[in-house]
Amino acid sequence: MFTCELCSVGTELLLGDILNTNAQYLSRELAALGIAVLHQGTVGDNPQRLADELSASLKRSDIVILTGGLGPTADDITKEVCCELLGFQLVRDESILRSIAAHFQKRGSVMPASNLKQADVPASGTVFENTRGTAPGMALEKDGKCVILLPGPPKEMSAMFDISVRPFLLNKYADGVIVSRSIRTFGIGESAMAERIADMLDGENPTVAPYAKEGEALVRVTAKAESAEAAHALLAPVVSEITARLGEFVYGIDAGSLQETVVKLLLEKKLKAAFAESCTAGYVAKRLTEIPGASEVFDCGVVTYSNAMKVKLLGVSEQTLREHGAVSEQTAREMAEGVRAVSGADVGVSVTGVAGPGASEKKPAGLSYIGICGKEGTFAVRFETGREHDREYNRYVTSSKALDVLRRYINSL
Ligand code: AMP
Ligand code: MG
Repeated sequence: MFTCELCSVGTELLLGDILNTNAQYLSRELAALGIAVLHQGTVGDNPQRLADELSASLKRSDIVILTGGLGPTADDITKEVCCELLGFQLVRDESILRSIAAHFQKRGSVMPASNLKQADVPASGTVFENTRGTAPGMALEKDGKCVILLPGPPKEMSAMFDISVRPFLLNKYADGVIVSRSIRTFGIGESAMAERIADMLDGENPTVAPYAKEGEALVRVTAKAESAEAAHALLAPVVSEITARLGEFVYGIDAGSLQETVVKLLLEKKLKAAFAESCTAGYVAKRLTEIPGASEVFDCGVVTYSNAMKVKLLGVSEQTLREHGAVSEQTAREMAEGVRAVSGADVGVSVTGVAGPGASEKKPAGLSYIGICGKEGTFAVRFETGREHDREYNRYVTSSKALDVLRRYINSL
């Protein structure tokens, strides 16, 4: 197995100005290729410290991947330092220069002279095209070691990894193929989920690993084999056994998110939905409209924060608010009915709750009611996040619950 390490270059990382998302992305992708990442380092834009770090990395690992410092400014020194240390000569590449110039032309601006140096590439070495920006990436191979340079901006880096670096590594360094599938759930805790599949957790190939994240739990099943087909064949029976055991809680396999699943289901059933949100204040609407194609199924979202607006825009009765409060099953039902009536959508969905911190209407933070109104009638579901002090968590997880209640409703039709 080849060993690898990462070196993130940029003073802004050391100052805490930005989060090192490149290291997270690369570690995950390399693990999936079966390349072990044994070390992660970060250095500022300083030539001596970068050279020292690279020398140390090359003593430990077969592959070193650096990100950042390929920009046009004077503090971008990664390429120069690496080529100097490894004895690669830089030459200007006319075709890269033309594509950088074209990049600026497309945006209606003139290429600054400082960008010229981005067209300098090692005379011998592999160059990776940058489809999202100007700085090309590269691989410098010497004495059985491989140094890969990638641009810092995460979108440029990940696109380059996807298009060029993964195939490069697969071809030269990956040993077999690793394929993962994720079974995503909402509404079951990580430990309850793990209990249901306890006997499967010590498998070696595939491996089965539970994770929890922001109110959701997922199981990742990973297999290693000679080919992708062989890996999928190992995965299939395990994935279907786990899916059966987790049953109604599963909202998708390899699904991107709850909102993606809901948009897909609404599209399948040709339904339009309208939303009335109080405590989540548009969170559900935001998440649904992140998904391309949402305009086919998302009719409208209204944020009715005050009681007065619940009455005026949605027709919630004043008596209901007086007798039961804004955070109640009755109000949730009337909000869902109101937004369905106002919009003419097939389904009305409502959310009303206490985001916290601190209780209101003598109701605990994290309590909410989700209402659904369709042509079959109206119902509301009570939900508690169980967290008193985390307003952001409560808002997010309550929006997830609303998406999940809608998912279950559509599945029941
Ligand atoms: P650079 O190539 O060093 O000029 O980096 C350009 C931009 O990429 C920086 O301003 C950051 O916003 C971003 N960036 C660089 N390194 C990282 C990293 N490790 N993780 C996330 N963003 C990064
Ligand atoms: Mg930089």
